[in-house]
Amino acid sequence: MEERTLFTKIIAGEVPADIVYDDNDYCAFRDIHPASPVHVLIVPKRVIPKITDAGPEDKEILGGLLLTAAKVARQLGVDESGFRCVINCGKDGGQEVPHLHLHLLGGRLLGWPPG
Ligand code: AMP
Repeated sequence: MEERTLFTKIIAGEVPADIVYDDNDYCAFRDIHPASPVHVLIVPKRVIPKITDAGPEDKEILGGLLLTAAKVARQLGVDESGFRCVINCGKDGGQEVPHLHLHLLGGRLLGWPPG
């Protein structure tokens, strides 16, 4: 049975979210605690808990995740100004939700390295 996570509930419409993009494989919605003017989470609909759980069979879904990030960045108008893609993994990575997702951050100058 498919794992139920907060993000599967958002994808299923059971938890409200500001969805900005949706297709067969991915859903993107605004982060509830935005760290920048544009802060969207791009989530593969099939649950991979974290990036280290992905295997060779997930190549297509992982590649599609980056292509979807670029598509959503264009849609939200940050493709020219620039943006950052982040995938947190595990405790030290600050991952809170065990459902692989990519943070798309933009709309302001982002510092590097992160604090
Ligand atoms: P991570 O720490 O990488 O697992 O990211 C989880 C993100 O989900 C955090 O940035 C949270 O602010 C965000 N988040 C938690 N609950 C919700 C929600 N109901 N809707 C949108 N974003 C959420």
